[in-house]
Amino acid sequence: MRLMQAKIRLYVEQDLAGGQPVALTREQAHYLFGVMRLGPGDRVALFNGRDGEWQAEVADAGRKAGTLMCRARSAPLVLPPDLWLLFAPIKKARTDFIVEKAVEMGVRRIVPVQTEHTNSERLRQDRAQAHAVEAAEQCGAGFVPEVAALARLDRVLAGWPAERRLMFCDETAAGSSVRLDGLATRTPQPDEAGRQAGSSGAWAILIGPEGGFSADERNRLAAMPQSVTVSLGPRILRADTAAVAALTLWQMQLGDWV
Ligand code: SAH
Repeated sequence: MRLMQAKIRLYVEQDLAGGQPVALTREQAHYLFGVMRLGPGDRVALFNGRDGEWQAEVADAGRKAGTLMCRARSAPLVLPPDLWLLFAPIKKARTDFIVEKAVEMGVRRIVPVQTEHTNSERLRQDRAQAHAVEAAEQCGAGFVPEVAALARLDRVLAGWPAERRLMFCDETAAGSSVRLDGLATRTPQPDEAGRQAGSSGAWAILIGPEGGFSADERNRLAAMPQSVTVSLGPRILRADTAAVAALTLWQMQLGDWV
């Protein structure tokens, strides 16, 4: 049975424009024609992170290759707010979860950082990036945040941009009131490309590892003029929960949810 109604969204690298043919990779052809059983004339929504969402039609379906024909744009590109998520990688499944949720909640960039108490020394950047693509395909986003290479937190902070504010989620602040009140609220205005995006300025959220932050890291973060220390309630959250909670708070106060 053919899934005529399924609105399949597929991320592609190519430029998208009306009348543009899009050659599929072997994996994409296998997915569309082998797994989803699409055939000539069936529709697929395409996005590449730059050109918005486009409706395309299967022009040519083979077992290992195929071509889609781009027809009409179905949605403009909407960028998420200029928010980075910095987190210390944890176990594989939980790291995948954090990447997936960050894309769904809306961030511009995902930055894995190695802290003094980071449990995991390694992060498969390609795997994490593929996860971000899948999450964007599933949640209807037209933009895929870049997953940066794992870097040491002290180095990331040493090169920290003067104008990017940092929401420092500090577990030792647990139970004190959530201090987002010092943050300016957002005033909507188009970004440089004329698209609507949260315009609360450049921000980042920092979530620590299961072992928490070291005293040195905490002192350094607290001393940064860009940093705002935030509590995520009276209980200690696991890092993956903390990431979702922090993103929710930020999006409600300063992001594109309001
Ligand atoms: N092992 C630490 C907890 C680390 S929780 C301890 O027992 O103290 C992992 C990360 O989630 C923390 O580094 C922090 O960034 C965030 N986090 C968890 N609960 C939090 C809370 N109540 N307030 C602020 N940040 C929290």
